Amino acid sequence: MRSVPDHQAAVAALIESPPAVRLPVFDALGCVTVDDITAPIGLPGFDNSAMDGYAVRAAEIASATPGSPVSLPVAEDIPAGRIDRLTLATGTAHRIMTGAPMPDGADAVIPVEATDGGTDAVTISDAVPAGRHVRRAGSDIESGESALRAGTLLGAPQVGLLAALGITEVAVVPRLRVVVLSTGTELITPGTPLQHGQIYESNGPMLTAAAIEAGAAATHMHYVTDEVAEFRARLDEISDDADLIITSGGVSAGAFEVVKDALATGGAVEFVKVAMQPGMPQGSGHHVSPSGRRVPIITLPGNPVSSLVSFEVFIRTPLRAAMGLPDDRPRITATLHADVRSPATKRQFLRGVLGVDDSGAPTVDPIGPPSSHHLRYLAGADALIDIAVGVEEVAAGSPVDVVVLGALPSVTVS
Ligand code: AMP
Ligand code: MG
Repeated sequence: MRSVPDHQAAVAALIESPPAVRLPVFDALGCVTVDDITAPIGLPGFDNSAMDGYAVRAAEIASATPGSPVSLPVAEDIPAGRIDRLTLATGTAHRIMTGAPMPDGADAVIPVEATDGGTDAVTISDAVPAGRHVRRAGSDIESGESALRAGTLLGAPQVGLLAALGITEVAVVPRLRVVVLSTGTELITPGTPLQHGQIYESNGPMLTAAAIEAGAAATHMHYVTDEVAEFRARLDEISDDADLIITSGGVSAGAFEVVKDALATGGAVEFVKVAMQPGMPQGSGHHVSPSGRRVPIITLPGNPVSSLVSFEVFIRTPLRAAMGLPDDRPRITATLHADVRSPATKRQFLRGVLGVDDSGAPTVDPIGPPSSHHLRYLAGADALIDIAVGVEEVAAGSPVDVVVLGALPSVTVS
């Protein structure tokens, strides 16, 4: 049997980084930049008001106090968006709104709250130093300064900065196109009536969702029956538009193992037993499309828990790495809340629910039986408890290694 780390290495070696592409900024959300990006313009682009108020020369209202205010005629209204260049004549004020361009000659803004709010003339009851409430051109970023470094993950604030800089396209590592294909003659589509012996296809939507959550552009293909010719034809159809194919089912030791039967000969896909529970039968390699493209293919077992745990253990991290994304599954040590047993020859990944003890340290409760069809417990877990090969029993109260699947606001992740 192959060890988990050895199969992790085999899968990781298959998944390659796609070449960088230029995308419209919004489409690059969630992708990682490949170039340093410098600001093509400064921000702000012009001196503007930080307050609704009155643009003045600070020296002209230096004596203003509540007891002895200063009055100035209001010569202009400057709403945000006014694009003509104005000059403040001595002895006057301009009523100005937040974000509106400062008139030449003005050096401060008196907030409306420190005035009577007048429209023809304004009475000002507070002095301000020069520069107050003025946002200087380039004070956020100067033209030519570095805006984002290569390797930056584009989230909402980064998209905002690029848009503010007037940048429309950005070079990024694109999302890998993952295509998920389930196999099984027993499968039918949710929404159609079940006959005895049939089940709703759940691995396809689940693995597609997992790939999307990992940052990939995943598509769920309609499943195929356990007919080799049908499976092969479907693989050929999808392989020109896929960077990675993930199949589920048809790889274990029974008869009618469609994926194995279709791909075991030819040597491009290797089928192995991995010393792991769940998820022992695994396969990985390449499928060569009719046009000659070599597409990495990873064949996961069909049991729902096995297939998702296999995705977590083998695919998620290298898939993210190929897109420049960091491993976002922290490993922590937690105190086990119940005795567990494990097969000595296998590494076991049990489903768990995280918590915290009185001192704030993480705890984990194993949930559900170890068998691989308990989707309900998988859906209720936020962690995988990782039990090493050679360990047959772990007693409640022991520290265990845990892979954190969900957000953990109340636990300090080290
Ligand atoms: P297999 O690996 O094809 O032998 O399937 C193992 C078990 O997983 C069987 O009980 C299948 O019915 C079930 N299974 C396989 N594929 C799926 C799927 N796409 N959705 C839900 N269950 C599945
Ligand atoms: Mg099957």
